[in-house]
Amino acid sequence: MPGDIQLTCSDCGQEFTFTAADQAFFSERGFSTPKRCKNCRAAKKAGQEGGGGYRSQASHGTPVICSGCGQPTTVPFEPRGDRPVFCRDCYTARKGAGGGGGRGRY
Ligand SMILES: [Zn+2]
Ligand SMILES: [Zn+2]
Repeated sequence: MPGDIQLTCSDCGQEFTFTAADQAFFSERGFSTPKRCKNCRAAKKAGQEGGGGYRSQASHGTPVICSGCGQPTTVPFEPRGDRPVFCRDCYTARKGAGGGGGRGRY
């Protein structure tokens, strides 16, 4: 019967217990003996997953000047020169004025 093993973490230098259950789990999956304690492994994993994997695409847009209020804004399309472009506020206000306050598409 294998027992628990005390190992030293290569990251933080702390001793940690490589339990018999963990040893069975690791050998079952073909993993080698861990070099890091659970805390450091968790931290490393979190760092890899949270390190800028998610990128917002909401910022994609064309910078324009709103024809209604004159504020700089972005629109999610390529504006044509012969048509006025509006910021979201003005667009919603204009749309809402004609439609009696219905829900916008935004
Ligand atoms: Zn550690
Ligand atoms: Zn505007």
